[in-house]
Amino acid sequence: MDLQHWLGRAADAIQEWAETFGPYEPHPALHIDDDRFAAVFEEFTGRLRDNYPFFHPSYAGQMLKPPHPAAVIGYLTTMLINPNNHALDGGPATARMEREAVARLAAMFGYDTHLGHLTTSGTIANLEALFVARELHPGRGVAYSADAHYTHGRMCRVLGMKGYPVATDDRGRLDLDALEDVLRTGQVGTVVLTTGSTGLGAVDPVHEALALQERHGVRLHVDAAYGGFFTLLAGADGPEGLPPEPWRAIARCDSVVVDPHKHGLQPYGCGAVLFRDPEVGRFYLHDSPYTYFTSTELHLGEISLECSRAGAAAAALWLTFQLLAPTPDGLGRVLGAGRRAALKWADLITASDTLELYQRPELDIVSYFPAVQPASLTAVDAASARVLADGMAAPDPVFLSTFRADREAFTARHPRTTADADGARVLRSVLMKPESEHHVERVHDRVEQLTRSHRPGALRV
Ligand SMILES: *Cc1c(COP(=O)(O)O)cnc(C)c1O
Repeated sequence: MDLQHWLGRAADAIQEWAETFGPYEPHPALHIDDDRFAAVFEEFTGRLRDNYPFFHPSYAGQMLKPPHPAAVIGYLTTMLINPNNHALDGGPATARMEREAVARLAAMFGYDTHLGHLTTSGTIANLEALFVARELHPGRGVAYSADAHYTHGRMCRVLGMKGYPVATDDRGRLDLDALEDVLRTGQVGTVVLTTGSTGLGAVDPVHEALALQERHGVRLHVDAAYGGFFTLLAGADGPEGLPPEPWRAIARCDSVVVDPHKHGLQPYGCGAVLFRDPEVGRFYLHDSPYTYFTSTELHLGEISLECSRAGAAAAALWLTFQLLAPTPDGLGRVLGAGRRAALKWADLITASDTLELYQRPELDIVSYFPAVQPASLTAVDAASARVLADGMAAPDPVFLSTFRADREAFTARHPRTTADADGARVLRSVLMKPESEHHVERVHDRVEQLTRSHRPGALRV
């Protein structure tokens, strides 16, 4: 796809449509000279250079990458009209696209019925799921793993619900025995299961938690904000295939959240929440005097806590799904490449004598640290922080991120490390770009070099 060509076509298409409504005078109050614009644009693009190269495979840090060109064209074209998906009157075309895109997400998770919509983010999507959970279980709290996204605790406070963080096992997954201890108190109405934790990509055992629904009368909500699209690799042939059980079990949970702005190739402003029982729409009912006049159908704004939402976000997702469908042979191929890259790197680290794996990647997040002598948390922390900083400052830079492991988590995985601090930062790389598959050896070599250059007595490179 030639971005410049399609940007031009986008402007033409909207212009042609606009012209069908007849001519009018642009107001001088909005007029900007090209010369003035050029000067400001120069400064603007200059300032934008102060960024990390999220697009480049040597950026192997946080969960960040640019959207697919199809999403960019979808977003920008629609933005020229600027529909608001709050109501059908705000944008009939994009409201329909939102319904279709959301239905494809529901099909991806195997939901046979659903009510759902896009949101501004995973945080808001989770807030909506917990809001519905509170309406159904008033007075009862929410249990989530200690490694769940930090916003669950925050959103519980917003909703006036008590949050119950539950211990994780030695791979970062929710410990079901610890969970049952909490559920036996009868204080919890909802359990959040995370399929793909943000830190390490750990997948909670959703299939084993299903029995809790009946046994303790709880709702099950799945936070798949980061990991959701990995369901496309469930049971796949090849090294990238994932054990299918937790992913298939999502279809039997009450709600699920996924962020198309993470692995769905979308720009920011695109989360999604899906409920299995469409009846929960009743909790959103409101009576707006302004917004609805053209239809008696349930508007998206009537099933969403947010009011204005970008129709362009729905359009971008719809257009992307026409080209790279949320199916194993569509988007699944994109995720498969990132996952193979993560596995390849894990093997290189296992064979390395300067780096150690923190734990094996479950999805596409690789966690590792420089092998230090003597092995202590303080030394691991300092060495990780140094490699992170040196990697970014080097002439041939590599961009990583760090993840803080607490003492218990670290020593559960590496019992021989001296626990002389309450935790340590380790290095963390999210390999969410398919290009990483053919670049990961280079990134590994760079990280090994950076690690070696700090060993006492080592030759500086
Ligand atoms: C990213 C993430 C969130 C928060 O989503 P935002 O879109 O950043 O608000 C919640 N849960 C998990 C598991 C995530 O990875």
